[in-house]
Order: sequence, then structure tokens, then C-alpha cells
Amino acid sequence: MPFAYDDQNIFAKILRGEIPNDTVMETDHTLAFNDIRPQAPVHVLVIPKGPYVCHDHFAAEASDAELADFLRVTARIVAEAGISPGDGGAGYRTISNAGQDGVQEVPHYHLHILGGRPLGRMLPPA
Ligand code: 5GP
Repeated sequence: MPFAYDDQNIFAKILRGEIPNDTVMETDHTLAFNDIRPQAPVHVLVIPKGPYVCHDHFAAEASDAELADFLRVTARIVAEAGISPGDGGAGYRTISNAGQDGVQEVPHYHLHILGGRPLGRMLPPA
């Protein structure tokens, strides 16, 4: 079944300017803003401006320009936050939750960038 995008989701409203956001970076294809409930000193959400539901939807259907821009924005955010291991930073984690098992709250594709403190193991023991 194809992905059905709900244009009433909260990030679609942010993209339309109906809800404010704390923008970190913006390009033609990508918006990055601080999470409203940060779980680490750095907690940025990176979203494509196009109507993609989750990671595999974006990866399969976005243009090469959208895909490249999205990834380049993530690199610039990490660099500007000073958390890149390639630059002497202490590191970070990127997470993208998808669907029910992934416990995705907002059905517009987003990548969490978390850093600024030790983040522990990726998942608690099962
Ligand atoms: P998910 O569980 O879908 O991966 O994560 C959604 C994230 O969006 C959560 O971390 C939540 O705090 C964040 N969030 C939900 N509503 C808003 C909002 O209106 N503004 C911002 N900046 N973040 C939001």
C-alpha cells in the first residue's frame, strides 16, 4: 500500500508557518528546528519540506537534490553544534522513528540529532 501523507500533522503546520518553531537551519528542501521537548542539550529535528511520512518513504521517493540537501544539512548542524567526532567533538546520535513499532509520534519524516551528553546504549535491554 502506498504511503498516505496527512497534511494536518504538526510538522506540516510548522512548514506552512501555522505554528512557530525555533529554526536552526533552513534550505530550499530542508528545515531543522529544536525539539520542543529536548532529551539532550542538542536535540534538533531535521525534516524535508516535501510530504514524506518516514525514512523509507523519503529514501525511495525524494529527488536526489532533496536527499543530498537533507544529509548535507545534518552534517552542517552537527559541525555547528561542535559535536562531530571528526572535529574533536564528543559525538552524537541520529534517530528516525517509523510507524507503530518505531513509536513515531509525528507522521512527517524527521531525523532526531541528539548530543551534548553521553547518550547511553541505543536501546534498553529487551
Ligand atoms: P517521533 O516520536 O515522531 O520520532 O518524535 C516527534 C518529536 O517531535 C518529539 O521529540 C516531540 O518532542 C517533537 N514535537 C512534537 N510536537 C512538536 C512541536 O510542535 N514543535 C517542536 N519543535 N517539536 C515537536
